[in-house]
Amino acid sequence: MDDTTLDHYREAGIIAKKVITEGAQRIRVGASYLEIVEMIEAMVIEEGAGLAFPLNLSLNEDAAHDTASLRDERLFQKGDLAKVDLGVHIDGYIADTATTVDLGTNSLLVEASNQALENAIKKVRPRVTVGELGSVIQMEIESRGYRPISNLTGHGLGRYIIHCPPTIPNVGINGGVVLEEGMVFAIEPFASTGSGRVSDKTRREIYQQISTKPVRIPSARAIIDHIRERKGLPFARRWLPERKSEITLSGLVRSQHLHVYPVLSDIAGSLVSQHEHTLIVTNEGCIVTTR
Ligand code: MN
Ligand code: MN
Repeated sequence: MDDTTLDHYREAGIIAKKVITEGAQRIRVGASYLEIVEMIEAMVIEEGAGLAFPLNLSLNEDAAHDTASLRDERLFQKGDLAKVDLGVHIDGYIADTATTVDLGTNSLLVEASNQALENAIKKVRPRVTVGELGSVIQMEIESRGYRPISNLTGHGLGRYIIHCPPTIPNVGINGGVVLEEGMVFAIEPFASTGSGRVSDKTRREIYQQISTKPVRIPSARAIIDHIRERKGLPFARRWLPERKSEITLSGLVRSQHLHVYPVLSDIAGSLVSQHEHTLIVTNEGCIVTTR
């Protein structure tokens, strides 16, 4: 990796760390969900960076992919467990990091995903397999009486690419990709009191352009024009002009211009915690850019 690329990754990580730390402190009982999301996103822009994806703010059994809608009226409630997942980029080089804010009495669950992440990071160096990282995560979370979410994973990061190989499982698997110096990826354990698997909810707030083939319908073309500057990075429905956006977005998903990220949830009434860091493999370990 050349020095400029490394500098961009490091700068994105420093900004992500600062913003997620300050932003998470604003999450309190009675605070507005929409205001928190907009404030954290604005902080990234004020720092001179870009958003690699809309701020994900997912509550309780929702593990990932929720964000505010345009007139979201939710307020944080006593007992909420909020996953704050932030993506920052500098010139396309991404820092992806997440933490969990506990407005109840679930510090043990929060500690489980955090310690699993720390244990996995300690294992990272060339020639280790991603399966070994998954084992470490699974063991830590299960030893505390929770379930790792087996169908959510960490992932490689590329320039303007939010998910690419290697996949970092949250459970032990045999072998898998062997780590090499220079790889950039996010590790993101989720600990759950539920089933340990997520499924799609009907709520859909986050989308991503996956094709540049032409669009004829004017309302659809307006959306594509609006999100072209994202260069393929995910965007929020909230960021679009409001009129008919939901039905137009559904059409663009059907025509395979857009990919949709539905909210992903474990079973109703369960609680999920998450922690995430981005790291770069070095010859003897790794650099954690988001710490
Ligand atoms: Mn993330
Ligand atoms: Mn991630």
